[in-house]
Amino acid sequence: MIVMPGSRASTDLPRPFRPLASAPSMNAMHRVLDRRNPLWYAASVFLLNTRPLYQAFTFVERQVKHRLFGCRMCGQCALPVTEYACPMTCPKQLRNGPCGGVSVDGSCEVYPGMRCVWLMAFERADAEGHVGDMRRLQRPIDQRKWGQSSWVNYWHGDDEELFAVESEREPSLLTASESGESH
Ligand code: SF4
Repeated sequence: MIVMPGSRASTDLPRPFRPLASAPSMNAMHRVLDRRNPLWYAASVFLLNTRPLYQAFTFVERQVKHRLFGCRMCGQCALPVTEYACPMTCPKQLRNGPCGGVSVDGSCEVYPGMRCVWLMAFERADAEGHVGDMRRLQRPIDQRKWGQSSWVNYWHGDDEELFAVESEREPSLLTASESGESH
């Protein structure tokens, strides 16, 4: 595992975490922090080249995001497409969920009585009219980036292609002929 100096990966066992910040407020903040603003790219380069500042910045990010979202510092943040419900707090750490073990009452299979974090994400996305985001396939994360600043990685473009492009198409099951199966 590659961990940037001064940062560390979380070693706690993940448990579903209900975000403490509202989706509208976080979506508004994300627009301010949009990486298309060249200022943020310049800031990321500066931080990456200034080790003590990078360490301090990562420390602050850890404190803020851990309290608000249960962030575990995977370094490749999914929050903007999961309406700020962190998928790494899923005990199975699924980046595409929910799994098939969710109870009929919405409880996590691993922690009965705790609401599945992926259901929280869908509920928040539905309330915001962002369900299309939930259809975006998330690629597996790079395990070497645990402990790094996801904000710096985002601004620097190191987590590009973390998600498939948004699709308006409703997911559907392939028929046998479409999938090329023969009987
Ligand atoms: S950086 Fe990773 S662990 Fe932290 S909130 Fe984002 S997805 Fe969750």
